Amino acid sequence: MREIDLHIHTNISDGSASPEEAVQYAARLGLKAIAITDHDTVNGAARAIMAGHDCGVEVVTGLELGCGWYGREVHMLAYDIKPEEESLRRTLEDIVEDRDARNEKMAAVMTADGLVIDLDELKKEHPDSIIGRPHFALCLVRAGFAENVQDAFRRYLDPGGKYYIRRKFLTVEKAAELIRGAGGKAVLAHPMQYKLSDEGMTELLERARDAGVSGMECYYSGYTPEMSAELLKLADKYGFCPTAGSDWHGLHKPHIEMGSGINGELSAPYSLLENLRAHK
Ligand code: AMP
Ligand code: FE
Ligand code: FE
Ligand code: ZN
Repeated sequence: MREIDLHIHTNISDGSASPEEAVQYAARLGLKAIAITDHDTVNGAARAIMAGHDCGVEVVTGLELGCGWYGREVHMLAYDIKPEEESLRRTLEDIVEDRDARNEKMAAVMTADGLVIDLDELKKEHPDSIIGRPHFALCLVRAGFAENVQDAFRRYLDPGGKYYIRRKFLTVEKAAELIRGAGGKAVLAHPMQYKLSDEGMTELLERARDAGVSGMECYYSGYTPEMSAELLKLADKYGFCPTAGSDWHGLHKPHIEMGSGINGELSAPYSLLENLRAHK
């Protein structure tokens, strides 16, 4: 039953579709509910909810936060959060401030390298967006430095790349606390993306459980049935509700389809959302 997609980005972060377009697209696909999980911002939620009323799609107010993990980054998804909650609001403001400083550094390095980046222009081009590496990737593609967004990351923007500048991250514990404090449920995003050893995965899941994380994204674009089965076993072991999300970014990741993933591997029933909501 393909009823929900709990991991969707709009142009309020680094997707290509507006919140309204994303919701209308979900309606056309026949989805019952979607979660808008933009990076570090809830600014698209209200618009998406309004659009959802018009086309009969339930919109979950969500968010995706980056957390530091031994020099790398893991992602925490949030669901059913209250956007106006004070400490969440303040933390998101801090993150955006840190991003602005990092964007200036990235623009300076790229400009010194002969690819002139005018941040004011970039902001004008994406007026509602939280600007991040994906937007720089688009500049690299446009200037002929890379073939496409993926290629731009591989050549320049992935950690270790020439233009990569690390930003500040929350801890897993802090992210979970913030999400719970804002009335929401925290879910560990795409656990197979972190390429952890068995011991590393155990430590991450233990810390997530102890921090009050409720769920784990067991169904994700590109995950084979075997990968999902392994994650379901782990979710069961640690008491996490399994969730499902495509990580749709619209045209910015054109190989990923909302609701169904890369090869139709996603087909999530509404009950996953109900179970998550019922989690302690
Ligand atoms: P930032 O938060 O500015 O560091 O950018 C992170 C975002 O860039 C992620 O959420 C992804 O959407 C995108 N991203 C990260 N790595 C890659 C990659 N290798 N290929 C394509 N997109 C990526
Ligand atoms: Fe993204
Ligand atoms: Fe992510
Ligand atoms: Zn995402």
